[in-house]
Amino acid sequence: MADKYTDFVSRGWGRDLAKRLGLPQPVRLRRYEPGAPLVPGPVLLVGSGAGADALETAMKGWDLEILRDAPAAGTTLGGIVIALDGVSGPEDLSAPVLAAGAALRALAPSARVVTVSRRSSTADEPALAAARAGVEGTLRSLAKELRNGATGNGILLADGVEADAPSALGALRFFLSARSAFVDGQFLTVGTAKGELPDDPDKPLAGKVAVVTGAARGIGAAIARTLARDGATLVVVDVPAAGDSLAKVANEVRGTALQLDITKPDAGERILEHALSRHGGLDILVHNAGITRDKLLANMDAAKWDSVIAVNIAAQLRINDALLASGRLGEGFRIVSVASTSGIAGNRGQTNYAASKAGVMGMVRSTAARLAGSGGTANAVAPGFIETEMTARIPLAMREVGRRINSLQQGGQPVDVAEAIGFLASDAAGGISGNVLRVCGQYWMGQ
Ligand code: NAD
Repeated sequence: MADKYTDFVSRGWGRDLAKRLGLPQPVRLRRYEPGAPLVPGPVLLVGSGAGADALETAMKGWDLEILRDAPAAGTTLGGIVIALDGVSGPEDLSAPVLAAGAALRALAPSARVVTVSRRSSTADEPALAAARAGVEGTLRSLAKELRNGATGNGILLADGVEADAPSALGALRFFLSARSAFVDGQFLTVGTAKGELPDDPDKPLAGKVAVVTGAARGIGAAIARTLARDGATLVVVDVPAAGDSLAKVANEVRGTALQLDITKPDAGERILEHALSRHGGLDILVHNAGITRDKLLANMDAAKWDSVIAVNIAAQLRINDALLASGRLGEGFRIVSVASTSGIAGNRGQTNYAASKAGVMGMVRSTAARLAGSGGTANAVAPGFIETEMTARIPLAMREVGRRINSLQQGGQPVDVAEAIGFLASDAAGGISGNVLRVCGQYWMGQ
């Protein structure tokens, strides 16, 4: 979808005018292209200890130039990684955080800042919990200070998980890369040392069979294209009325189409049957299909409430139940559900939608625990404002506000949501489960 404002302020007199009036000046974000460097320059690694050393070794293995001291004048940095996994009290934040701060002006456009620290818990001593939680406040504020498409995100390690555990490195690579263009101010928690880094980082889903619901258009079609690009074999699902567009997407990704209303009682069985009979397995399920029927609660009728719940959450629950009860899924099954920032912050006129999307987040946390034994994971992504037909229907003034109120001052693209799903669906994310990853450019609403 066109963002005419961004086009206008990106060049010529539009750019000068925006500068003079102090208007938002969103920049074109760095997005994934095969063969392009992981980051646009050397990476400064601050912090000390075993975690920092392990991160240095791993990043050097990705052919990155790693600096451990302040960069020489004139250096343009592709990123800053701040190793804070060893902090034991709030005083410990000062040296590494200020060292990172001193280098912020050297960041290239669309550079990355990534913190690596430990998740705080009630079992921590108060000073330790304060230091660990303090990292989250620091990163979220730092992300709001970055400019030119640069982003800041963090990795939270559970106790006992090393900084170079497969999913910690997988998350680090994702956050450094162009794949995380619209993920900003967010954390991924690595709960276990499970997971495996791919042999070929450009084909992390090679050999996997993935089902994507609601794939005839919008975010779902982008997910199908992205997972196929990353090596997966695709089954694309949508309602029969969207059959023509669905067939086009299926052809494009060289997958198969399944015309199915996901609210049908036997939807789970039909999906499983199709995947097994046509492709011999089912490794990844992406619950993307969703609808909105907005009304203030005072004006809400049962049809609007019930249809949103039926498509957005009840269908996902029923399909998951059927699949998990079948005993026919492989080890390491991946579920990724599309939630929404409305389910976190709430949104006027969306009590039904927010109930369904907050429900999705509750569902993945509970499902994560059930899948743990078989090495499976369940996670959600929560998109903010994404440029699709769904958001193109929002009245212009509200749409313009919606796409500007985030740190990157623009709406995300469907591919941005798809990239986050691709990572969570990969073997590299095997230690990440029960997470909700926002893809919202650090939307001002919710945390
Ligand atoms: P969209 O309306 O463009 O596409 C949704 C697709 O789901 C359509 O192809 C539709 O036919 C399909 N679908 C609807 N009901 C179905 C059913 N019963 N069975 C099978 N398929 C069905 O929407 P989108 O913007 O691409 O959104 C995709 C997902 O992302 C949704 O879950 C939505 O809630 C979520 N989301 C979108 C945004 C955004 O800004 N666009 C923000 C947050 C969350």
